[in-house]
Amino acid sequence: MELYQHPYELIFKHPFGVSSNTRRSTVSVLVAIKFQNYIGYGEACIPAYLGESLGSTQEFLKRAENHIKYRDLTKPLPDLVSEIDALSPGHNAAKAAVDIALHDLYAKSAGCSVNQMLSLEYVPERATAFTIGIDHADKIRQKIEEASDFALLKIKAGTPNDRELIKLVRSCTSKPLYVDANQGWRDKKEALELIFWLKDQGVTLIEQPMPVEQFEDTKWLCKHSPLPIYADESVKRQQDLDRLLGCFNGINIKLMKSTGLTEAIKMIQFCKREGIAILLGCMAESSCGTGAMTQLLAYADVVDLDAPLLYTNDPFEGVEYTNGNILSSNGAGIGVRCMQNVFKFD
Ligand code: MG
Repeated sequence: MELYQHPYELIFKHPFGVSSNTRRSTVSVLVAIKFQNYIGYGEACIPAYLGESLGSTQEFLKRAENHIKYRDLTKPLPDLVSEIDALSPGHNAAKAAVDIALHDLYAKSAGCSVNQMLSLEYVPERATAFTIGIDHADKIRQKIEEASDFALLKIKAGTPNDRELIKLVRSCTSKPLYVDANQGWRDKKEALELIFWLKDQGVTLIEQPMPVEQFEDTKWLCKHSPLPIYADESVKRQQDLDRLLGCFNGINIKLMKSTGLTEAIKMIQFCKREGIAILLGCMAESSCGTGAMTQLLAYADVVDLDAPLLYTNDPFEGVEYTNGNILSSNGAGIGVRCMQNVFKFD
């Protein structure tokens, strides 16, 4: 197998703001793994808070390239993924890129989709939330108008102006809202008061209200909150789940945190066992990472997979949206095609 990597700058249609920063573009490292005539695609999307950088991602991918260089497809996929994981601690997004590309490659060589290969449940489409980032009032109105197809809006909050923000959104739409505070609330009592107010405003769930390190405060908040509280930054991999029992009602599972599909599926199994709600989310990924996640759509209680709608230059196609639903491609592999001449294969 040969592994190719290519950094690719995804340009946002609108600058994208959350409680900590605003970005005009984001860099993903696209990965292709080639074996004979089959090519599997993957993607590492590297937001700074995961502690990964372009350099560390490329360096890890080089090690993965060397590791699989003399391999064919005879080793069971879970074993190969475990070997890649063991190369070095951390590097979750880089590992996700390799995991996704290997799933795409193995399924293509078997002539089926990833969900068929893994005997997963399949649904062709699900309603997805659409994200409204932190922005000026005019831009927020414009984004809400552009999101007219979507039944659920995800509002990025977590600043001192959250009440004004929600009032502004409410002046434009009566749709149910889902609020992501991105760790922005520090005082548990103020947060609880705000959550009661948000419930009256038609908010249906809260994501990551408080900083990861305020574990006990979040537990208290979850116990008293009239709305379900979901973890995002507080949970990356399967190993984080046990200690979060009783602290959150739901988990936002993302491939870039979980190190890919292999562990996302294990996290889904844990949540099903423990009665924890499953939110399938994404980072600022192209249709490659998001397409991989659509293989798991059947298991989601809430879907937040709108990232491919945010760019002007998605290098993949195959993830479609109709009437506010994301469609799961049942094509070979993860169901996406590389659109541009990104990779030069030997
Ligand atoms: Mg979040």
